[in-house]
Amino acid sequence: MTLHQNYPLRWQKKNFSINIFCSIPNIATGILIKADKAYFVVDPGDGILRDLNKDIGTKNILSISNAFITHGHHDHVGGLWTLLTYMRVMHKKSPISIHFPYDCVEIDSIYNAFLKVYSKTIPYRIKLKPIKNNNRIKSKEVTINPFPVVHKEYLQDGISTRKVPALGYKFSFNGMNICYGGDTAYCIELVKHAKNSDLAIIEAGHDSDTHDDIHMTMQEALSIGKSAKEFFLVHVPE
Ligand SMILES: [Zn+2]
Ligand SMILES: [Zn+2]
Repeated sequence: MTLHQNYPLRWQKKNFSINIFCSIPNIATGILIKADKAYFVVDPGDGILRDLNKDIGTKNILSISNAFITHGHHDHVGGLWTLLTYMRVMHKKSPISIHFPYDCVEIDSIYNAFLKVYSKTIPYRIKLKPIKNNNRIKSKEVTINPFPVVHKEYLQDGISTRKVPALGYKFSFNGMNICYGGDTAYCIELVKHAKNSDLAIIEAGHDSDTHDDIHMTMQEALSIGKSAKEFFLVHVPE
């Protein structure tokens, strides 16, 4: 079973909405959540600035208050440098918090490199928020529940794998909620959080029908998606 999504995927319920600009494994992810007047960016992969610019424009990009990173793979963080630099060039004033799995070295490294290059000329504050115990986060009337997921990557030999620090997030606002699993194999935490959510965004990135610890098969993703009121299957190889 294959599935071709036409991006962007959009969902809205009252003043709570999500735009998935892109979600293609190994290429790019880019997601924007809007809760009333608050803007959150989720997994700012390559192309995020282009897509945000087209969708919400400079003024609103500068008001983005939070970034949520599921894990450090390039297709989920590749646009972060661009976004931070654009905010610097355009004189962002308000702070931005970056939430990410503790031990996600990519975010620490991008942040440290950014500070090293621009230390004296960053007009806004960057607050790094590594997530260790999956405590709930509150910001701009939105409650965010991070939860652990299971995601692995291949080592150089192409056979052995290692675990990647990876999270999913459940965003709740005004009695509505969106569950985004990020990249994950079938896991009980995602099953739990996706169930009965208003929208579940589930990756179906596995290219075969056999279960593994890297991505979900289409059948696994469907079974979780169907437990939510509405769902999108994303991150399907093209
Ligand atoms: Zn990915
Ligand atoms: Zn990944």
